Amino acid sequence: MNTDKKQLTGFDLKQLTQWIKELGEPAFRAKQVMEWLVKGYDFNEMRNLPADLIVKLQNNAVAQPATVLERHVSKNDGTEKLLFNLDDSHTVEGVVMRYKHGITFCLSTQVGCAMGCAFCASTLQGRLRNLTAGEMTGMVYLANRMVKPDSISNIVLMGSGEPLDNYDEVLAFLRLISSKESLNIGARHISLSTCGLPDKIRALADEKMQVTLSVSLHASNDEVRKQIMPIAKTHSIKSVLDAAKYYLEQTGRRVVFEYALIQGINDHIDHARELASLLRGMQSHVNLIPLNDVKERNLRASTKAQVEAFLSELTRLKISATVRRQLGDDIFGACGQLRAKRLGTSFADSAGDER
Ligand code: SAH
Repeated sequence: MNTDKKQLTGFDLKQLTQWIKELGEPAFRAKQVMEWLVKGYDFNEMRNLPADLIVKLQNNAVAQPATVLERHVSKNDGTEKLLFNLDDSHTVEGVVMRYKHGITFCLSTQVGCAMGCAFCASTLQGRLRNLTAGEMTGMVYLANRMVKPDSISNIVLMGSGEPLDNYDEVLAFLRLISSKESLNIGARHISLSTCGLPDKIRALADEKMQVTLSVSLHASNDEVRKQIMPIAKTHSIKSVLDAAKYYLEQTGRRVVFEYALIQGINDHIDHARELASLLRGMQSHVNLIPLNDVKERNLRASTKAQVEAFLSELTRLKISATVRRQLGDDIFGACGQLRAKRLGTSFADSAGDER
């Protein structure tokens, strides 16, 4: 990272005003600069600034801490997968998804991930570093510029990384992106997906931010969960659910549970019953996800019939559940797949990994 230059997309208007004043410039310039940053513009495109100020800004700061390195558009559904390049040449992914209700942007929160889930390509090389609030905000601005004349209405923190393992920067990002001077995307239009870190879920609940909490559960008991998610060895399902209930109490927001159906691992009808009893009485919604196959680890998606049966059983037991539509599977839409492809790594390369 270019540490001596400030990432201006990480500042709110107050911080930016302070910084501009320290540069010896009048405070009103901060508002002008902020407006351009939010539009995803670089300094040399900021047309209402004097040339000497632009040079000053270029010498002391970066306007957009990420650039778009690759852009893949799905022929099937218009989903766009973006590969961003960061100042230190690390790359992370983002996905633009077009729904009837608007445009959702899926954002990464870390380069790589430390959580080691057996089915996830993001974690193949571990966590390389956290993303800063400025980088996350900057990627949303760039994506938003790219979809013009439309605009991004929803954000999901479901790219690579574990958002709650980068708590402070993610929280700063949430505050920024939902502020009036930024894109004003309300917390209710933002989902944060986590493998389930109970203390951090409680901390987020205490912020009372109205962000939708999505918990990647993927199993109905600890034995199965430990097979596919190493974090289950540290935190039991019960401790995760207790924290999720606390989140619901503090925010009034129903919690979403992600459940990727993996053939022969977690997709038996008894698992559906067990899941239903775990969630009974809790305001929640289950998102069933057809697994993106990981052949190297012999993890395969459940069949359509198994997915249907699992869904029907949950519905019969009065648990709110739907199957998530798959978007962009012709462009390496799943977590970490595009970056892994570029790096030349895949599950096959890491077969001997201890993760
Ligand atoms: N670390 C966070 C957010 C990133 S992953 C979390 O664990 O929730 C976003 C979602 O994609 C998670 O639910 C994750 O479990 C899921 N996912 C990862 N790899 C997948 C695959 N091969 N098939 C289906 N879903 C996958």
